[in-house]
Amino acid sequence: RYVIFGGHRDSWVFGGIDPTTGAAVLQEVARSFGKMMEKGWRPRRTIIFASWDAEEFGLLGSTEWAEENSKILQTRAVAYINTDSSIEGNYTLRVDCTPLLNQLVYNLTKEISSPDEGYGGKSLYESWLEKDPSHENNQRPRINKLGSGSDFEAFFQRLGIVSGRVRYTKNRKVDKYSNYPVYHTTYETFELVKQFYDPTFQKQLTVAQIRAGLVYELSDSLVLPLQCQDYAEALTLYANEIYDQAKKHEAQLEMYKVSFDPLFSAVNHFADVATDFHRRLSQLDMNNPIAVRSMNDQLMLLERAFIDPLGLPGRLFYRHIIFAPSSHNKYAGMSFPGIYDALFDIDRKTDPHKAWEEVKRQISIAAFTVQAAAGILEAVL
Ligand SMILES: [Zn+2]
Repeated sequence: RYVIFGGHRDSWVFGGIDPTTGAAVLQEVARSFGKMMEKGWRPRRTIIFASWDAEEFGLLGSTEWAEENSKILQTRAVAYINTDSSIEGNYTLRVDCTPLLNQLVYNLTKEISSPDEGYGGKSLYESWLEKDPSHENNQRPRINKLGSGSDFEAFFQRLGIVSGRVRYTKNRKVDKYSNYPVYHTTYETFELVKQFYDPTFQKQLTVAQIRAGLVYELSDSLVLPLQCQDYAEALTLYANEIYDQAKKHEAQLEMYKVSFDPLFSAVNHFADVATDFHRRLSQLDMNNPIAVRSMNDQLMLLERAFIDPLGLPGRLFYRHIIFAPSSHNKYAGMSFPGIYDALFDIDRKTDPHKAWEEVKRQISIAAFTVQAAAGILEAVL
């Protein structure tokens, strides 16, 4: 079983922030894990450290490697943790990951102290929650959907491997731009990082601790630290969101007989199965290696079940039915992208009948996929 920790090393110019603040983290984590191995530690699963080339030209290094090894990765990869730039600001934490990793991220940030000035004694979780509460549930810090724009793309969007990325970011309430001002320019230098972004290197250290913590827990925990009920919660939220979008066309939903009932039914079923899975997991005999292996495989293969081999319409490379890069901003993530794109601008379509048939088709694909994913978590007889 493999846990992959990868990030790129090529840059547009000097790459002071992108990718060096992430490539340095890759080197340091590899060095620290090496020290632990010298002291006798041996991770339960194989850790692959990957330094990618040609990310800026189109994610070429990571994509070629994922393609070349796709059959092995589909059967053995537990997770991919990305290590691109570890800062794009110095205000608070930013996390984009599969819902399966939410709980692990929250647990890790509770164990790490906040590097922010004036936050003496606070955990990173506390300062992160204070600065960037979740839109839907402000009792928890915000975690974003995975889009693209970095090397996790082939692993997550194409192969359905659990993925996540973590970095320090700017204050989203003040700075609305999607990136930092000198992104990809000749002004991205080491001096910029040392004098302005992270003079004490504390933010980069904190990000390194979280990334390393994710790799450590995923590679060494007896039971994979993945939480399926958080996926159920996310699916419920996304189904409601996409239904709200569709409801803006109430008359057409009626006229073309478009129903979201199959999707809600599949999502509710998934939620029940996920709850039952974790109930069984809590009663698992940890001394029975076959039973542990069996449930770990179900956890590993859940993300894979959201992959449709036929791909999304017009962009066959993207095959995850729950998440895709937005068709309008590749860096951002979109949920139920097939349905969303079918609904986009639907009032201006020349053939509305055909357009609404496509919406129905996409709802069917989503409902089928969620139902099939639930099957992965059901008790193995
Ligand atoms: Zn980069």
